[in-house]
Amino acid sequence: MARIVMKFGGTSVADIERIRHAARHVKREADAGHQICVVVSAMAGKTNELVGWTREASPLHDAREYDAVVASGEQVTAGLMAIVLQDMGVPARSFAGWQVPILTNDVHGAARITSINARTLNDRMGDGQVCVITGFQGISPQGRITTLGRGGSDTSAVAVAAAVEADRCDIYTDVDGVYTADPRVVPQAARLDKVSFEEMLEMASLGAKVLQTRSVELAMAKKVRLSVRSSFDDPDGVPASGGGKDWAGPGTLVCDEDEIVEKQIVSGVTCAKAEAKVTLRGVKDHPGVAAAVFGALADEQIVVDMIVQNISEDGLSTDITFTVPDSEFDKASRVLENAKGLEYDELSGSKGGAKVSVIGVGMRSHAGVASSMFRALADNGINIQLITTSEIKTSVLIDEEFADLAVRALHTYYGLDSQQA
Ligand code: ADP
Ligand code: ASP
Ligand code: MG
Repeated sequence: MARIVMKFGGTSVADIERIRHAARHVKREADAGHQICVVVSAMAGKTNELVGWTREASPLHDAREYDAVVASGEQVTAGLMAIVLQDMGVPARSFAGWQVPILTNDVHGAARITSINARTLNDRMGDGQVCVITGFQGISPQGRITTLGRGGSDTSAVAVAAAVEADRCDIYTDVDGVYTADPRVVPQAARLDKVSFEEMLEMASLGAKVLQTRSVELAMAKKVRLSVRSSFDDPDGVPASGGGKDWAGPGTLVCDEDEIVEKQIVSGVTCAKAEAKVTLRGVKDHPGVAAAVFGALADEQIVVDMIVQNISEDGLSTDITFTVPDSEFDKASRVLENAKGLEYDELSGSKGGAKVSVIGVGMRSHAGVASSMFRALADNGINIQLITTSEIKTSVLIDEEFADLAVRALHTYYGLDSQQA
C-alpha cells in the first residue's frame, strides 16, 4: 500500500466527461489498495472567467473579495469529483481549503501555505475514503479565503503530499510529461524521463508553466517525489502504481540530480512573454541607489526580474535597466516617477519583450553554452536586448515577435529535437 496525491489540472476536469475520465485514474489506484488524496483545479477557463468578472466589477477591486470569487472554481470541481467517484463505488469526500485546513499567510492573490493540519485527511484515508481537496486555495490567519497565485493547484498538491507524507505526488495534466520545450511551440520537443529539481525550478520560473515554480521549490525542500503525467491516457491502459516509492511512469519524474545518470548540457529551452523593459538613465551613482529603486518597487509588490546596471563612465551617474511583467509596466513607471529622493535624468521603456532561456545542469562544467546561444540567435537575425546568467541557465530578452523562432532555433541548435518528430 502506498499513499499518493493525484492532482488534476483544468483541462483534465474541463467537463463532467473529463472528470469521469480523471476519476477512473483515481479508481485504478484506489482499487490497488492505495490511500489517496486528490487535488483539483477549476474547470479549464473558469478561473480566467472569474478573474475577468472581478475586473469588470471594478478594476481596482479588494484583493480579499478577488480571492472569494476566484477560489470558487475549485470548489465546484472538488464536489463534482467526489460525486463521480461515489457513483463509481469509490468512497470519497470533498474538502475546501478551510475544511482541511490549509493555512496560509494573508497575501491575498499570492498567498503562501504556512501549514496544513493533516489529521482529518489521515483519518479519512485511514477509513478508506478518497479525500478530494480544492487546489489553489487556503485560509488566512484572519479566517478569510486566500488563493495561491495562478497555477497554484500544483503547489496545493505538493503541500498536501508533504503534509500527509505521501510516497508520491502525481501531477496529471494535458501533456504526458515535462518536455525539452513547450510542445505547443516546438513540435519536435522531446519528453524528459527525469529532470532534476534544480532544472525544473529554472524551467518553471522561466516560463514552462507545466508546474508552478513554488510547487517545485516545495517538493525540493520537503523531498516530495513529484511526477508529471497525462490524464488523457486510458486509465486502464496504465498499471496501478507500485507500493513504496516505486514510480509507475509513463511521464517525467522530477528528482535529485544524482538520480539522473546521463546529464545533458542543455535540458530545456523556455520562453516567458509579455516582459516589459524599464530603463533609468543618468541615475546618481552612489551607495544606496539600487536599494532605493528596487525598494520602491518592492514596497508596491512589483516583482522585478532581469536587472542590469552599467559601470559608470564618469563616476557620477549610471544607467539601470530591469524587466517587469507587461501588466506591471505602468505601475512601475509611476512608482519610480514618484519615488522620493531618487534622482535620474530620464525614464524610458517598452512592453512586448520575451525572455528566452536555455537551462541545463551540464552548463556547470561546460564552457561556451552562452556564446553558442548568442551565435544561434545572431544567425537567425535576432537582436539581444539584455542577458542574465546563473550557474545552470542563460537568459536573453528579445522582441516578443521573434520568441517562437528563437525557441525553435535554440532547440535545434542544442540537438534537442526528438528523433520521432
Ligand atoms: P494544468 O491545467 O494541468 O495545470 P497547465 O496548462 O498549467 O496545465 O500546464 C500544462 C501546459 O504547460 C502544457 O499544455 C504545455 O503547453 C505547457 N508547457 C510549457 N512548457 C512545457 C514543457 N517544457 N513541458 C511540458 N509542458 C509545457
Ligand atoms: N485554477 C487556478 C488557475 O487557473 C489554479 C490552477 O489551475 O492551478 O490558475
Ligand atoms: Mg497548471
